[in-house]
Amino acid sequence: MDYDVIVIGSGLAGTLAAINAARTKKVAVVRKGYGATALSSGAFDIAGRTGQRGRPFKGISTLTGAIGNILYNEPLHPYSMLSTLLTGDRFNEFPSMVKTIGDQLFSELETEGIRYEGSWESYSIIPNQHGTFKLTSFCQSSMLSGNLTKLMGRAIVFVGFERTDVHNKTRASFISAMLSKYGLASFRNIGCTNIDLRHYGIPCNEYDYISLAGTMDDTEHAKKVLAIVKHSLDSMEYEHAFLPPIMGITNHHEVLKMFTDSFGDTVSEFISPPSSAPGLRLQYALDRLLARHGVAIIEGDAAGEGTGDTIKTIRVSSRDGRKASTSADSFVLATGKFISGGIVNKGTWHEAVFGLPVFIGVHQTKDPFPPGHLTGDPFDDQMLFSMGVRTDTSLRPVDEDGRVVYKNLYAAGSVLSGYNYIYDKTGLGTAMMTGAKAGIFSVAG
Ligand SMILES: Cc1cc2nc3c(=O)[nH]c(=O)nc-3n(C[C@H](O)[C@H](O)[C@H](O)COP(=O)(O)OP(=O)(O)OC[C@H]3O[C@@H](n4cnc5c(N)ncnc54)[C@H](O)[C@@H]3O)c2cc1C
Repeated sequence: MDYDVIVIGSGLAGTLAAINAARTKKVAVVRKGYGATALSSGAFDIAGRTGQRGRPFKGISTLTGAIGNILYNEPLHPYSMLSTLLTGDRFNEFPSMVKTIGDQLFSELETEGIRYEGSWESYSIIPNQHGTFKLTSFCQSSMLSGNLTKLMGRAIVFVGFERTDVHNKTRASFISAMLSKYGLASFRNIGCTNIDLRHYGIPCNEYDYISLAGTMDDTEHAKKVLAIVKHSLDSMEYEHAFLPPIMGITNHHEVLKMFTDSFGDTVSEFISPPSSAPGLRLQYALDRLLARHGVAIIEGDAAGEGTGDTIKTIRVSSRDGRKASTSADSFVLATGKFISGGIVNKGTWHEAVFGLPVFIGVHQTKDPFPPGHLTGDPFDDQMLFSMGVRTDTSLRPVDEDGRVVYKNLYAAGSVLSGYNYIYDKTGLGTAMMTGAKAGIFSVAG
C-alpha cells in the first residue's frame, strides 16, 4: 500500500481527518482544489437555529441548548449519529466532546497564525455587508471586537472602499442604513465613510475585498492603507469602526497587529460574502497544518475503484492530464457538497468519486428535481440542501437498506446528508466534528 489512509478533499473536514489519522499513520490528501471552507466567512457556526424540522425553537440562547435540541429533534444529523456512540449522558457528553475537539483545533490554528475567539456558550453577533448580522460561535480575532452585543449605546461607523465592490459607492452607507432600520437602533450613532484609495495615489481598479486584502500582505502597502484609514476616521466621531475583511491573507497576523497597535480594539472586520479573506486565511492555515503533521498532498481529481466491499486504490487525474493510481488501507471521503463537486447531478444525483447513493432524510434521491424539497421561503428548512451520503454511526456510507457499502471508507463534512448548514447553522461545526472522528475511525478500522 502507498499509504495507510488517503483522504479525498482538503477543506476543514478532510484536513481534520488527515491530521487525526497522521498522529499514528502515513496519510495523503488528494484534492482537486479548494471548496466551501475557503469560500466561507471563516466564522465557525457550531449550532444555531434548532428545533423540530420546520418549527424552529425560539429563545434558545446557549450553544449547549442548541446542540441538545439537535440531538433531541434531528436523529439523522451527524451530531446525533456521532452522539449515539457515547456511553453516558449524550446531552452532556456530546457538547463536551465538541468543546474538546474545537479547543484543540483552535490551538493548532493559533500556531499557524490565525487566532479564533468566541464562546462555547453564548453567541457573538457580527455585522455583515448586507447590513444585517451573523450569530456565530467563534470568529477570527480581527472580527471579535465588533461583537454588536458589546457595542450597544456606542457610536459605530462603517468604512467602505471605493471601487471595491459592485455597489461600492453606497456599500458603507447601505450597511449603516440597514442596521439602523432593522432593530439595532440602540447604537448612539451609526455612521459611514467611503475611502477612495486613488486620491492617495494608490491604484485601485475594480478591486473586490479579497483582492484588496491580498495587497495588504505587503507590509509597506498595509502601512499606507492603515494611515489613510486613520486619517479618514480622525475626522469622525466614533467609538468602534468596522472595515471590510481586508487585513491581509497570508500576512494576516502582522497586518492585524499593525491595526491593533494603532486602534486597539476599536477597529474590526465585518463579514463579507464569498470569496472572503477570512475563509482563505482559514484554508491556508489548514494547508500549513497538513504540512506540519507530515501529510502528503496530491493535487488532482480522484475517482474511485471499489471492488467488492473494499476500496484498494483510487485514480487521480492531475491538471496536466497525467493519471496515476494510489492505494491505501482506508479512505476518507471529504469532498464537500454541490459547490466543491462532492455531490453532482448528471441526470440523477450521486456522489461523485465512488458513485455512492445520496439521500434526503432516509430516502435515496434519484430524481434530478426532487419535488417538495424546496419551498418559497428562503429562510425555511430546504430539504434539498440536506442531501448527501448517509452513513452508519462510524461514518461509513450505507445503501438504502442501511448496509455499509465499503468497509474501509468513511465520510465527513458537507458531503454528508442529514443536516442543512444554512438552516441549522452547523456548517464548520459539522465539518470539524465529523472530520476529526472520521480520521480516528479510519485508523481504528
Ligand atoms: C459560500 C459559503 C459560505 C459559508 N459560510 C459559512 C460560515 O460562515 N460559517 C460556517 O460555519 N459554515 C459556513 N459555510 C459552510 C461551511 O463552509 C461548509 O459546511 C464546510 O466548509 C464544508 O467543509 P468540507 O471540508 O466538508 O468541504 P469543502 O471545504 O467544500 O472541501 C471539499 C474538498 O474536496 C475536494 N474535492 C471535491 N471533489 C473532489 C474530487 N473528485 N477529487 C479530489 N478532491 C475533490 C475539493 O477540491 C475540496 O478540497 C459556508 C458555505 C458556503 C458555500
